[in-house]
Amino acid sequence: MKSQSPSLIVFLTSLISSLTFLLLFFFATHQIEKAIEYAAIFWAINFVLSYFFFRTYILTKIAQVYRLVFPQKKQLISKMMHADGIDQMHQEIEAFNEKKRQELSSLKEKEVFQKEFIGNLAHELKTPAFNIQGYILTLLEGGLEDARINEKYLQRAAKSVDRMIQILDDLDTISKFDHQQLTLEIKACFLNELLLEVIDEFKLAIEQAKANIILEIAPEIKVLADKKRIKQVFINLINNSIKYSSENVQINIKSIVVDKQIMISIKDNGPGIAPKHLNRLFERFYRVEESRSRHLGGSGLGLSIVKSIIEKHGSQITVSSTLDEGTSFSFQLNKA
Ligand code: ADP
Repeated sequence: MKSQSPSLIVFLTSLISSLTFLLLFFFATHQIEKAIEYAAIFWAINFVLSYFFFRTYILTKIAQVYRLVFPQKKQLISKMMHADGIDQMHQEIEAFNEKKRQELSSLKEKEVFQKEFIGNLAHELKTPAFNIQGYILTLLEGGLEDARINEKYLQRAAKSVDRMIQILDDLDTISKFDHQQLTLEIKACFLNELLLEVIDEFKLAIEQAKANIILEIAPEIKVLADKKRIKQVFINLINNSIKYSSENVQINIKSIVVDKQIMISIKDNGPGIAPKHLNRLFERFYRVEESRSRHLGGSGLGLSIVKSIIEKHGSQITVSSTLDEGTSFSFQLNKA
């Protein structure tokens, strides 16, 4: 409902009181002309005084509250005696209220996320730390002299140290992205060449898993990207396809030119991911099968790093997957 202006309210209240005065005066004296004359004078004095006091009182009170909410806005206060001014103020306070409500809910979300993050981090680091402690204690309590276990336990402890370093490295990368400390070195690079370099790094893992990588990218396609970071994206995605699939997985890497962009997809025919996991997949520490992923050396941070890198390139990564059929990740990069 539209607000009434205080001037109108004052006008109406002084009119009502003047009419009352007129009626009372008329019934007391039976002189209608005098009654009208005095009532008019009464109304004029009443209106001017009430308007002045009402205005000063309301303006002072409203201005105090309004300045608390909007310390930087002063110009509207003088307009408050008009209905439009009050309506405008009402809308501004409602918008302010809505903004604060949203800020509060996002802060609450962040708080939950932060608590989960610390919990996950402690959980991730605890496992290798306890393993190292166990191996070292066994070695100190005589195992060092036992030729059957000493080397084996040292190797296991070293593996756990590697795992801790991997988690810390991933966290370091994420934190640098969060704090905008990572600036990309965007250059034109040949996509096919970049992928051949990545595949070369995976040679051993590919051979061991008998994986078949099919690269369908024209050699002349050039993208604008930070080579090192985009290589990291392909490493994480290809590594996941190999890691989570059984032997003989087929991985298709394709590109399509869409206007000024190159759409890239990495598709495997591995085990797939159930739909309920898909919208949480890029969250930090999120894993589909916790024990399996940890056993395979995963930290649950790989895809969140991939997402950060792609977003830093001004793009988005999407996933589609069908259980027992396979998984496909796609994103776009600017054409060079
Ligand atoms: P991790 O470092 O543990 O591998 P990621 O963030 O890379 O974590 O992946 C999150 C989860 O997504 C993994 O636990 C895994 O279950 C699932 N996942 C990722 N890629 C694939 C894939 N290609 N096929 C099946 N599952 C996958």
